[in-house]
Amino acid sequence: MYFVANWKMYGNLSSLNALDKVIKFSKSKEIRGGRLIYCPPNTLIGSFSKKFKDCQIGIGGQNCHESQEYGAHTGYVNPRMLKNIGAHFVIIGHSENRKKGENDRLINLKIKSAIEAKLKVIFCIGETLSEKRKKKTYLVLSRQIKIGLKNIKNKSNIFIAYEPVWAIGSGLIPKSQDLFRIVEFIKSKFKAKSPKVLYGGSVNPQNIINLREINNINGFLIGGASQNAKKFIDIVKKTY
Ligand code: PGA
Repeated sequence: MYFVANWKMYGNLSSLNALDKVIKFSKSKEIRGGRLIYCPPNTLIGSFSKKFKDCQIGIGGQNCHESQEYGAHTGYVNPRMLKNIGAHFVIIGHSENRKKGENDRLINLKIKSAIEAKLKVIFCIGETLSEKRKKKTYLVLSRQIKIGLKNIKNKSNIFIAYEPVWAIGSGLIPKSQDLFRIVEFIKSKFKAKSPKVLYGGSVNPQNIINLREINNINGFLIGGASQNAKKFIDIVKKTY
């Protein structure tokens, strides 16, 4: 199982101290084969990479520019730059960025570029509340997958994170039955080997007890609760 911590725009150098607990946990038997991946803001990737140098915790960025090249793009970071500073993963297509105007085509370019840079991609998809109400969930997911992964032949480095927009930061999670079906649907979109599918949206140490029962999920993308080392560790422990 994969446990991805999405720190969003939180954290500074003093946040690094709390990671000692997580490093210790990652080296203990209690981790039971769980794979931890931290995606801090870009400003902290270098420090995280140093901090994690002797352990198995992965590091990722939260977004990247679609270009492989260096260039005049004020404020942006390309996948090669993420790789160069120690990241192995990158989150692409998060709904918070879709809301700001990133569309499926741009997301497709970003995914291609990240894969070329040999990063693993955590590709986020998910419907909004109004799309859910209109019963468009499956339609939206199909479109996001189809355009987002267009012309990408080798999908072995892609994880899909199903994050219903209405569940992010809201304390709400989908019904177990719905979630099982949606994960099954996502996996069915892939002919050969289907990618690992993570669930994200309000995962916490309480609701993990229900979420862990959904046996086609391969891990979790955790926002708010991952900023607290104790809660993050608790989620991993309770999953097993
Ligand atoms: P949340 O965020 O766990 O705070 O809901 C998840 C995410 O946005 O990736």
